[in-house]
Amino acid sequence: MLPTRTLLAASFVTLAAGAFFLTAQPNSVKKITDGVWFREGDIKNEGHCNNIIIEMKDYLVVIDANFPSGAKAVIADAKKLSPKPIKYVFDTHHHGDHAYANAVWTKAGATTLAHANVVAEMDKYEPQRWQEAARDRKDVRELNLKTAERPKQTFTTSPFVLNDGKRKIEFHHFGWAHTRGDGFAFLPAEKIICTGDAVVNGPYNYTGDGHIANWPNVVMGVQKLGPTKVLPGHGPAGGPEVLAGELAFMQELAKAVKAARASGKKLDQIVTMKDKKPNATSIKLPDSVKNWVGDFFPAQVYDAWHEIEKGQPRGSLKL
Ligand SMILES: [Zn+2]
Repeated sequence: MLPTRTLLAASFVTLAAGAFFLTAQPNSVKKITDGVWFREGDIKNEGHCNNIIIEMKDYLVVIDANFPSGAKAVIADAKKLSPKPIKYVFDTHHHGDHAYANAVWTKAGATTLAHANVVAEMDKYEPQRWQEAARDRKDVRELNLKTAERPKQTFTTSPFVLNDGKRKIEFHHFGWAHTRGDGFAFLPAEKIICTGDAVVNGPYNYTGDGHIANWPNVVMGVQKLGPTKVLPGHGPAGGPEVLAGELAFMQELAKAVKAARASGKKLDQIVTMKDKKPNATSIKLPDSVKNWVGDFFPAQVYDAWHEIEKGQPRGSLKL
């Protein structure tokens, strides 16, 4: 997801409408297994992503940097869980709600880690997005930086592995889904996957930097690892059904837009614009994927349309 006013407004509406709201527990810390905790971010009020805290022999690893106010909350919670220092913070991708606190973590002594494409994405989109976020958000503004701090350590060969004998974490990259830099943290012994926003549990799929046609391939790459516990970038924790649902949603989205095009429909017949932004759509998806359909849906249809029309990933198009 993206750190915008639109996002905060949109998520309020979709959260209130979705049944999964019943299981959403913002700011709660849930033990997934010994030494692994899932902290559900307060997306509705703060725009925060979820975080995972993983205990190694001598240190902690945190999945996602979050926004600065989110990072502070995670640091406070981590202290309650373990006296070990936080050594690594993994940016699953470049979006502000996952990476804009990088400077907070490095100042606290941690090393920020990501796939190399996260840096490439920041180089592409920054400093513009950082400056927009700094206008909207006090916590970003208060860092007094001109742009997003890049992750300090990157990898290009997947998986990059941390193994201290007590626990092994594999950092995978399966290609471009939500962003070019999508990274996953997998605990092979515990079969736990941390997905960032390439897999979300709820109507949180932002497709503006994405590659809708390739998205299912990325999720299938994750499924091949055989995880039994799925810790998404937004929405509650779940099991393999979250992967299956995300995959089906992207397939149904592409299928429905292709069918509309094949029937001779034009874009303005399926997407209504308001203030130059997609506002409504006549496209309907099956009930089986309704957990993923929300306020972003008109934009997702719009993005899918252009991707098919141009034969290029949405994230490489200027629309
Ligand atoms: Zn995102």
